[in-house]
Amino acid sequence: MPRRLPFQPAETAIQAAVVDHWLALGRPNTLVAAIPNARAAGQPGLTKGLPDLLVLGGLVGVGLLELKTLTGEPSDEQIAVRAICERARVACEIVAGRDAPIDVLERWGVVRPRAGRAA
Ligand SMILES: [Mg+2]
Repeated sequence: MPRRLPFQPAETAIQAAVVDHWLALGRPNTLVAAIPNARAAGQPGLTKGLPDLLVLGGLVGVGLLELKTLTGEPSDEQIAVRAICERARVACEIVAGRDAPIDVLERWGVVRPRAGRAA
């Protein structure tokens, strides 16, 4: 019998959960917004490898989050964009699963910590 992987949400579901989390627990003067690259067409400047979410405010100022499923691998273009961010001193993280991006948003001071976690 083939080994089944445990259930894992699709990347769009992860992104929805992260945005919903920010809508519920986001700190004032912060923003978590989609960078609409997926299936976008015709808009000048569309660029492969741009992360999924733009994050503004909090402790980070400007941050970018590339979301992956637990088994997803970043593309070469995504790794290249992260390298540009590192050189530009812009926070950019490639994170897998639903909880890791929320951990990053907490660390970046963009959302209030979840119950039972340190402030
Ligand atoms: Mg992604």
